[in-house]
Amino acid sequence: MNKKILVENTIDFTDIKHIESLFALGNGYIGLRGTYDETITGAECDPGMYINGIFESEPLHHLWPCKGFAENEQYTVNLPDWRIFEVYIDGEKATAQALCNHVRVLDMEQGCINRVFEFTNSKGKTVSVESKRIVDMTDVHSAHIRYSVQALNFAGEVEVRSAIVKNTPINGKITTKTFYENVREQGLQLVVETQRTKMQVASSVVHTITGAEYTVSSSNEEAAYGLHVQAVLQKEESITIDKFASFYSTEDKLEDLLLAANEAVIKNQKIGFDALAARQAEFWHEYWKNADVEIEGNEADQQAVTFSLFHLRQQLPVNNHASIGATGLTGANYSGKVFWDTEMYLMPYYLYTNPESCKGLLMYRYKILDKARERAAQLGAIGALYSWCSIDGEETSVVFEASTAEYHINSDVAYAIWRYCEVTEDWDFLYQYGAEILFETAKFMAHRGCFVETKDNRFCINAVCGPDEYACGVNNNCYTNFMVQFHLRYALKVFEQMQAKAPKLLANLIEKVSLDDKELMLWKEASDRMYYHVNEQLGIYEQDDSFVYNDAVDMNTIPRNYDIRMMFHPLDLWRMQVLKQADVVLLNFVLGDKFTPEEKKANYDYYEPKTNHGSSLSAAVHSIMANEIGYLEDAYKYFESSAFMDIDDYKKNTAGGLHVACLGGVWMSVVNGFLGMRMYDSGLSFQINLPKQWTSCKCKICYKGSRISIYAKEESTTFKLESGAQMAFVVNGQPVVLDMEHSEVTI
Ligand code: BGC
Repeated sequence: MNKKILVENTIDFTDIKHIESLFALGNGYIGLRGTYDETITGAECDPGMYINGIFESEPLHHLWPCKGFAENEQYTVNLPDWRIFEVYIDGEKATAQALCNHVRVLDMEQGCINRVFEFTNSKGKTVSVESKRIVDMTDVHSAHIRYSVQALNFAGEVEVRSAIVKNTPINGKITTKTFYENVREQGLQLVVETQRTKMQVASSVVHTITGAEYTVSSSNEEAAYGLHVQAVLQKEESITIDKFASFYSTEDKLEDLLLAANEAVIKNQKIGFDALAARQAEFWHEYWKNADVEIEGNEADQQAVTFSLFHLRQQLPVNNHASIGATGLTGANYSGKVFWDTEMYLMPYYLYTNPESCKGLLMYRYKILDKARERAAQLGAIGALYSWCSIDGEETSVVFEASTAEYHINSDVAYAIWRYCEVTEDWDFLYQYGAEILFETAKFMAHRGCFVETKDNRFCINAVCGPDEYACGVNNNCYTNFMVQFHLRYALKVFEQMQAKAPKLLANLIEKVSLDDKELMLWKEASDRMYYHVNEQLGIYEQDDSFVYNDAVDMNTIPRNYDIRMMFHPLDLWRMQVLKQADVVLLNFVLGDKFTPEEKKANYDYYEPKTNHGSSLSAAVHSIMANEIGYLEDAYKYFESSAFMDIDDYKKNTAGGLHVACLGGVWMSVVNGFLGMRMYDSGLSFQINLPKQWTSCKCKICYKGSRISIYAKEESTTFKLESGAQMAFVVNGQPVVLDMEHSEVTI
């Protein structure tokens, strides 16, 4: 197995927040940023402890409010900062600045962070400290830290303090208050509450102390709790403090959150740190067996891919029907809000490696369907419109022209349902939940557009924003129109399928969603007559009705990987021929069977040079399409851009959290790019094209109840059926069927 570590050797005090994001731990429920255990003086750090779905809201004040403007802002809150440890020798504190021989390792094989360092006080007394931090993947309500201090060159007293700051700020603001607290032997029980949304988080923290002789006392002030361990160490003797913390929140819908947190923490304390660490390692060991991508020939690429997959798994919620914010649980940027990122950029990795795990993500969409219905009604429309960015389903974006106008989110959700059902054949989900989402959102889309006489009576969707957020209020965004066409056709297909397979459920839905023949006819007509325009002169699909007629731009004057909405007034930006991210190029990937190779190449040739990749979602899609059209240098360049986006902080904002969709894009650029995987109605296919920088690439893919492994080398690729009865697919144009008898093929 490849070595799965990221190592920090020296502490770079100018780059603390960026590194905190890289060293974030999480399990889809809890997220804990990689802030050092000890306090840092003078350098800025940004401790973060989040729970998925726990947020605060605030009314938005518009000076000139219009119909349908977002009414409230939502943002994730920072929860009790329970990770703090401090060491003192003769009263002198070891701050992060005073540490030497510091090494921190993000161990992605064991699922933990290991740290070692030494601290010498002014009298020359040196301690060596080792710490291990775990955010538990098995019990997602819990996290644990072990902190061991050893006297290296003296015998005497050291003090170790373990602290909990109860209400911690996010973006400079404290948004929770203490609702209940109880100090108990070597621990604290605490319930904090958000002020407006009245969401509660109960935490219970306990300590186990072992090693040398010690005395212990605690302090509890309004702001913070502290456990003070006074240890008498012989030379080379250690004292070890294991800190166990468990959290339950309003999202768990339990009567007594604190009781649940207490029970969990006591259970973990009994299990003990070593056993919990072993359980964590076992979890990740099992996980990597099916979800890994192994690359030979380039260690840095391997590490970046492992890093992406590790963090992707850490964001995946396994209960509560929650989704994933744009920076997951790794930072405060994007305020914990969910976008189309989950459906279009994250789900592919989850779905093809761990198909069942996607159901919860789609159930999140079902859970907030009523909010989507409300949103449509607020706009004076029918059906349902998912909010562009939100935590609980309510639209929160004030930039309506590049958020609410991104109606394509409805069709992205529809596409994700299609893809999930194709891969899992989970028809129960489709009939019970998916169909309702599809029909309500289809209804919204069908009534958002109209048949325009001067455009040959074709169905036009005007005043929208596609994936390229620099082009707002445009008519007929090509991506949107094609996705809506796909959506309406799929909704009709599911309707028919349910007539045969689930008539009773369909009858209920017809009533609930108010569907009639007229509505279905509209879906059919609108999809059959969907507008798009091929510009004969340029040989391309027009991104929208205006883009190709806009002002040309000298791209040498436009910074790359930077959102230029800060540089240009919208009225300037909207008339410029510059794209923020893949738009038609994305469409050519997602619905690739609707376009010829020549069309894809022409579109890439036209749009790619005009794209500044102001969104981290852009590079991966360009890598994939560059591969498909044979631009191998571009393919690798864009893969690297995606893979090192956060590690090398290309956008200079990883301090606020990892770009989680970009991490999903890394997997996509390997599997959809270099291995050329596509799934269309016609089935699954591969077109292998390893970059010359690699000698091999290995991964596993699930499809319709079976799993195959793929081992691509320079000269050939081996496909092997790993589980399930059969898998049929196409490789480099050649049909392959693997089953029990013929379980392996090399091409
Ligand atoms: C991108 C969107 C994306 C959002 C959150 C924006 O910069 O343009 O496509 O959904 O970031 O990642």
